[in-house]
Amino acid sequence: MHVLERGWLSSNNILFFGENENVIIDTGYVTHAQQTLELVKHVLGDRHLHKIYNTHLHSDHCGGNKILHDHYQAQIAIPEAEFYKVNDWDYAKLSFQATGQKCDRFEAHALVKPNDKLMLGDLEWVALAAPGHDPHSLVLYCEKEGLLISADALWEKGFGVIFPELDGRPGFDETRATLDLISELDIRLVIPGHGSPFTDVKKSLEVAYSRIAYLQDRPVRNAENAVKVLLKFLLLERKEIKLVDVPKLLHDIPLVDVANKYHLRFGVIYLGYWAVKQLQRAGAAEVRDMMLVNAD
Ligand SMILES: [Zn+2]
Repeated sequence: MHVLERGWLSSNNILFFGENENVIIDTGYVTHAQQTLELVKHVLGDRHLHKIYNTHLHSDHCGGNKILHDHYQAQIAIPEAEFYKVNDWDYAKLSFQATGQKCDRFEAHALVKPNDKLMLGDLEWVALAAPGHDPHSLVLYCEKEGLLISADALWEKGFGVIFPELDGRPGFDETRATLDLISELDIRLVIPGHGSPFTDVKKSLEVAYSRIAYLQDRPVRNAENAVKVLLKFLLLERKEIKLVDVPKLLHDIPLVDVANKYHLRFGVIYLGYWAVKQLQRAGAAEVRDMMLVNAD
C-alpha cells in the first residue's frame, strides 16, 4: 500500500500492489489531474494500473479518473447508486454542478455495493455504506490488518460537510450512524480522504461525535460551514478572487444558494462579505488590494 497524501483540493490517493492487479482508491481534483498521473507513474514505475475505485463521487475524489483511464486503460468501479448517473453523465444529478465544481467526463465499468468484498494488495477488504457527508459514500475496511480507508466520513479532526442537510435531505443521523459503525470496527490505522493517516481512532471519534452534536443542535452551523468550505475550494482552485466577484460566484453555486435560502437568509452581497470575513478569521484567506487571496 502506498498513500499519496494530497492537500484539500485533491483527496488522498491510495495505491495497492497485488499479485494480479494494481489498484488506486480515489484520484484527486481535475485541475491536479496531470500531477496525479505523474505521481502515480512515479510510484508504479513499470507496473500497470488495473483498477480505479472511488469511495464517492465528489469532484475531489474522481477528477483524475479520466486521465488515469486514458493512460492505463484502468477499469473504473464506483458506488452502485452513481452508476447510471455517471454513464449518462447526468450533470444535474451528479454533485459537480451543485457544488460549482468540475470533473472530466469518464465512464464507469463496474460498481461497488455495500458489503462487497474487494481484493486490494492481496488483502481482503469489505466496502461499508457510510452515508452522511454523501449519501452513497463507501468506506473500505481490512479486518485482518485493522485498516480503514475512511474517505470523508472520518478525518483526524472531524468529517466532510454534511451536504444532504443543506437542501432538506437527512444527513445528521446518517453521519452519527456511520460513526457508530466505525466505532464497532477494530482499527489500527485510518487512511482518511484528506490529511495524514492516523492511529488514535478513539480520539478522532470523540471529536467527530462532539462535532455532529454541535451541528445538529443548530443546523445553520452546517450551512455556514458548507458556504465557507465551498468558497475555500474555489480559492484553492483559483488562488485568488476579486472581492467584487465573490457574491455572484457564491450565488451561482446551487448548494450555496439553497443553504443560504433555507438556513442563513443573507442578501447576496452580504453573503459574500460574510464568507470572506469567515475565511479571514479562520486564517484560510487574506485580503490584499481588493483581492481575496488563498492562505494555508
Ligand atoms: Zn467528499
